[in-house]
Amino acid sequence: MKPIHVMTAILIGALAFLVLPSGTSFVSAASAFTELQYWHAGDQHVHSEYSSWDASYGGGEGPTVEQQAQAAEDKGLSWIIMTDHNAMMTAQDWSDEGVDCQAAEASTGIKVMLGLEVGNCYPYFSFGHYLAYDIDYYVNPPNDCQSMINAVNQAGGFGFIAHPFAFNYLWLDFYWHDWDVTGYKGMEIMHAGTVSIAAINKWHDILKNNPSARVFGIGNSDAHLPGQVGNTVTYKYGSVSAYDVYFALRNGESIMSNGPLITFKMGGTRIGGTVSTTSAQTLDIAWDAQHLEGQQSGVIQKIEVYTNESSYSYWYGRYLPVKTIIPSQTETGYTTTTISVTAQTRYVRLKGIFSNGESYTNPIWINYGSGGGCPYLQVWDGSDYVDEGLLDIHNAEGVDVTYEHTVMTVPEPVNGAYQFRLIEHPKTISDIDQVQLRAILEDGTVQEFPLISARHSEDGNVLDLLLKSDDRRIVEQGADHNGGVSQSIDLRFAALGPHREPVAFIFTIEGCNMICKTC
Ligand SMILES: [Zn+2]
Ligand SMILES: [Zn+2]
Repeated sequence: MKPIHVMTAILIGALAFLVLPSGTSFVSAASAFTELQYWHAGDQHVHSEYSSWDASYGGGEGPTVEQQAQAAEDKGLSWIIMTDHNAMMTAQDWSDEGVDCQAAEASTGIKVMLGLEVGNCYPYFSFGHYLAYDIDYYVNPPNDCQSMINAVNQAGGFGFIAHPFAFNYLWLDFYWHDWDVTGYKGMEIMHAGTVSIAAINKWHDILKNNPSARVFGIGNSDAHLPGQVGNTVTYKYGSVSAYDVYFALRNGESIMSNGPLITFKMGGTRIGGTVSTTSAQTLDIAWDAQHLEGQQSGVIQKIEVYTNESSYSYWYGRYLPVKTIIPSQTETGYTTTTISVTAQTRYVRLKGIFSNGESYTNPIWINYGSGGGCPYLQVWDGSDYVDEGLLDIHNAEGVDVTYEHTVMTVPEPVNGAYQFRLIEHPKTISDIDQVQLRAILEDGTVQEFPLISARHSEDGNVLDLLLKSDDRRIVEQGADHNGGVSQSIDLRFAALGPHREPVAFIFTIEGCNMICKTC
């Protein structure tokens, strides 16, 4: 973040904080601004000389991996993923490109990862293109949509549908041809500098018609030339190690953009996370029109809020927002808004329209639950405890509730243990019976991490009480019930197990909270 932003942030942050009615939001303006600087950009669809036959080069030689990485670094990106066409290279070429990626990473200092763009190219008939990430080996599957997805998954990777509605020109047809497929993570919503309304409509249809679907958007340049790298990006929060970038892409913890950044939190939960509620929610929205280095100056013009309940307009040919906000035009800003939640509301996502581009968030998901009280969860990420949001274990009758939370922050072990913290909401009291941490590995197997330590802020060692699902529980009191200080419990889980890195962490809590803080 540039120094001028920090000053503006502090000033506007302080003012906004003063005028906000207390209790409307869990995130202060100041912390919303601090949050902005942890969002980093990358480009997940970049070509090089390994795809030199590609007609997009006009018959010329493509740039080297090194040249593309240098262009990305100049643009202020933190990573790129090389995705040359499998149809234009051999397995040997692909492993040679991996060596080039390592060299480019060493010389530029940004992450240069190796992926693949799977699917047939000119002059053959194509069923579409599929972007393969985090694969363990080169794949060259049959030319049909489901086979491409399956081959990538079998190679230990995951993928996104590339430009689903782009490049249908004469005999060159690169549309995605089969929407009955399963096993893919999402699709390019923004591609080569522009947003595809057709892709957004398809994305919305899939989420609307299949309530259990978790399909995510991604923004990529499809750069063939260095000048195109980073013209479309995907932002993620926090660490930019290859593993953490893949983790965010796999779990929809990301934002698409052709430059500016819009982000939001709901009940303290970040994009990609889930909020359990039955009541109206406050969105804490922050933006930065010039988040990338050397970006053309711009200001916000409009913020649109979309949910699965957005209605389709045949007149406009697209889904309409459930709410539109016109903030006073600033380069960097913060605002809040409230949205109603019904039993049908399953997610919320934002679109920011700026004078210099557009930004689309992936959803924050809604689990229409009790709206009850609960502890907050925090995860140690190597430098800080990061908020994961509220764990809803509300039950008015005092019956234990088991709540599973998919952890958004990649936990960083300290002395061989993952560190989590439960902090009670100021208004509530929780009886906690058991906590567990598990990981899902690439092949779908589950790894358990045993609880080895639990320290209550006032009662000390409570490990014994939290190990089993039984009648023995520990009470955690919020500030309103405890002389102004919320109690907390520090948890440590042994980071045992295979050396393969998990694709998801699941934190499970069993307990009960009888107070409904929103009733
Ligand atoms: Zn393509
Ligand atoms: Zn491409």
